[in-house]
Amino acid sequence: MKKTAYIDDIPYQLVDGETILAFVRRNIGNEQVPTLCDAPNLDPFGSCRVCSVDVAIEKGGKTKTMASCHSPVVEGNYIYTDSENILKLRKNIIELVLTDHPLDCLTCEVNGNCELQTVAAQVGIRDVRYPEGDNHLHYEKDFSHPYMTSDLSKCINCYRCVRACDEVQGEFVLSMAGRGFDTKIVKGNNQSFMDSDCVSCGACSQACPTSAISDVFQSKSVVTPEKTRTVCTYCGVGCNLEVSTKNNKILSIQAPYEAEANLGHTCLKGRYAFKFYDHPDRLKSPMVRRNGILEEVSWDEAYDYMVDQFNAIKNNHGPDSIAGISSARTPNEENYLMQKFIRAVIGTNNIDCCARVCHSPTALGMQRTFGTGAATNSIEDLDHTDFILIIGANATDAHPVTGARIKQRLMKGVKGIVIDPRRIELAKYATYHLQLRPGTNVALLNMMLYYIITEEIEDKQFIKEKCEGYEEMKEEILRLDMDELSAITGVDKELVKEAAIAYATAKAAMEFHGLGVTEHTQGTFTVQLIADLAMITGNIGKKGAGVNPLRGQNNVQGAADMGAQPHQGAGYYDVTNAEVNQKYNQFYGVDVPSHIGLKIPEMFDAAISGDLKALWIIGEDVVQTDPNTQKVIKALSNLDMLIVSELFMTETAKLATVLLPASSFLEKEGTFTNGERRIQRVQQVVEPIEGTKPDGQIIIDVMNRMGYQQDDYSADGVLQEISDIVPFFKGVKWNELGENGKQWPVLEDGTDTQLLHVKEFKRGKGKFFFYPFQESNEVDKYGKDYPYIITTNRELEHYNCGAMTRRTGNVEILTEDVLLIHPDDAEKEMIQDGDFVCVESPRGKVDIKAKITNEVKPGILSSTFHFPEIMLNNITSDEHCSEAMCPEYKVVAARIRKSKGKYKPIEA
Ligand code: SF4
Repeated sequence: MKKTAYIDDIPYQLVDGETILAFVRRNIGNEQVPTLCDAPNLDPFGSCRVCSVDVAIEKGGKTKTMASCHSPVVEGNYIYTDSENILKLRKNIIELVLTDHPLDCLTCEVNGNCELQTVAAQVGIRDVRYPEGDNHLHYEKDFSHPYMTSDLSKCINCYRCVRACDEVQGEFVLSMAGRGFDTKIVKGNNQSFMDSDCVSCGACSQACPTSAISDVFQSKSVVTPEKTRTVCTYCGVGCNLEVSTKNNKILSIQAPYEAEANLGHTCLKGRYAFKFYDHPDRLKSPMVRRNGILEEVSWDEAYDYMVDQFNAIKNNHGPDSIAGISSARTPNEENYLMQKFIRAVIGTNNIDCCARVCHSPTALGMQRTFGTGAATNSIEDLDHTDFILIIGANATDAHPVTGARIKQRLMKGVKGIVIDPRRIELAKYATYHLQLRPGTNVALLNMMLYYIITEEIEDKQFIKEKCEGYEEMKEEILRLDMDELSAITGVDKELVKEAAIAYATAKAAMEFHGLGVTEHTQGTFTVQLIADLAMITGNIGKKGAGVNPLRGQNNVQGAADMGAQPHQGAGYYDVTNAEVNQKYNQFYGVDVPSHIGLKIPEMFDAAISGDLKALWIIGEDVVQTDPNTQKVIKALSNLDMLIVSELFMTETAKLATVLLPASSFLEKEGTFTNGERRIQRVQQVVEPIEGTKPDGQIIIDVMNRMGYQQDDYSADGVLQEISDIVPFFKGVKWNELGENGKQWPVLEDGTDTQLLHVKEFKRGKGKFFFYPFQESNEVDKYGKDYPYIITTNRELEHYNCGAMTRRTGNVEILTEDVLLIHPDDAEKEMIQDGDFVCVESPRGKVDIKAKITNEVKPGILSSTFHFPEIMLNNITSDEHCSEAMCPEYKVVAARIRKSKGKYKPIEA
């Protein structure tokens, strides 16, 4: 039976568990009850009492004054929101707040957009009757940080910033110190923002109802009618951003609270790292290399040059002498067009994207085991899980908003395992940290499978009904020697056993993995063993369970969905299947090739051997970010034509024959598909910087000039074409995607899918595989002379080659790549913190600053490749996943010594 409570004597239905405030807002609107300490993404707190209401348990009965934000509504309650008593109380509270608040509204940053000001007006305050306190005059302003600012004289002690830091980001940087009028917000150990451990996510600034904590963009006080909702370009979480603009300039970015992907949160990249878009370094004119020099030309001249060269090369050497590298940073529509251009216009399957160097093993491994390579669940499932397994993913740095959500769950008692060679932040909160030697994931996962089988805690019914290949896998697993594997991984077998039992006996266990799984010679096998673990424990097809790759770049999922890979076209159709090809032929109106094309590493080999003559790279700095830099430079330098579409003069762009200035994601429209298969609209925020064009339009211009008719670029139009060929995009329509997008597969009627493999696996039965551990060639071949293993990673502040983030305030927070080194190794090599270290591998050497830390074990080093001044990939190798050709960035044999002087990398 429906339950009822009353607001001002009018009956309304209540929802179990809702607060009085939520009940009132849902039924009669947000304005009825003012609040100050309440915020949409924070737990009810009840400190300011402005939201007080009178409540009686019967009509006309005695009322009690209650803070509505944290009091549950009860059936039969009579709630009075504006009785005389309540109005007086609210007014009194606000008057007291104002006695210790400067009354300088007219010069205040948030004047006209201040919650305190609004509430004061709402409760009818004209004068403050109490004497003004003076403590608010004592607090110094803090402008130490490139983004965060504070003026704590404006603080009203609502704790919203403290709670945002705790409950949303989980950083615990802010706290409240002192008593009475002396109460004040403290950062870290009473430090400035810059000196504290603040991660600059801006959650506190967005939460603060006044200007006590703000940012240099004055984000929350921006008054403009021009607000555009779009999607962040910096990682696969796909955070929604609300971008404020005026006169074609971006003023600030806030996180919409109702966005399902990020629930009102972002990291510093999404919220603050946008100033690259109008940086003076932006490329603004096409260029063509003449006599060794890049010269500015018109778009027509650049197109004419490209088309002449493409035609000549195709005629003289055949279509397979041309290749394209599409971009997992650009929208689906542009990826679709690029693969269509390469296949239907050039006539080759030589198309790949940077998913090759990150999650290609995930796609392949999950296709083999489940039938599709995408995340099985939604991030929202974190709220329904009992156990979190994180393998090779430093989520708080690389996928910060999801990382923060995982951290919150672990802090609130959900058990978890972190499998990682580094003591990453989440390892501090997880129940188990299995700190294995880099490159031994397969050995460790086999140990977990062994203990689950020998303890007989596998989900027998799930295996019997939904899977195949189990007995064969089990037989092989039972032959393994746990002592041997324990020695290989460097992890105590009893600890692995305990962790495996905890994972297997959880009601619903959710797995996340990143590049620490895929960027190995056994990357695909590792993904398949992760799938084994999920299937053996029945953790598939239900809420709060599953296998969830954390996608590195923002549209890795989408680029692969759109066919930017050499073996599968748009919608993952096998290009070698004659029936499928017939479908593509009809759809594109030309015959497409039926042999598998080159993967990125094969393109470089073919360029060196002279078989590949032309390469078009969109939005990827392969020189700085692909392994073995000198080999990449050699390959690109050997091409007859290298076309690079870019925002900036990257290391790769420096080698271009034709350089095309592209528009950034803020200047165009399309869709990105995030790591949970959510197709979201990227909406144009500002006009393209003069001289630039969206990649989609550039590709279409070239298609048309080469004789293939394609209408001018519009996200709507291309998306319609995609939904006609990609089955799981069938019901995707630009106008129906709404604010939160849709998770594929989207049926014809527009229904989307939060959870995969519910009744059965996409491939029918889930398939178990067994793979024995195999030592990386890098260790086998070079381990004797190069005794350290360096494993690469990513830092919170920067993204990939850093071309965008290095042109924002982020570079003031993290200024360079550093080498993590264990104190024992530092002592042994006589290296001190901050010394330059020469790191040498069989491919080359780099000089890099040492950071001594226990985050890595002895013998293990770690670093990033965000800065061209270091060019760390000079030392990484050609070793790659045996199945998917994803480079092995995570196991690089190296030796180190204190540097004799900073080595200058060979420039592109
Ligand atoms: Fe952007 Fe990822 Fe940060 Fe979200 S978590 S704001 S998507 S970089």
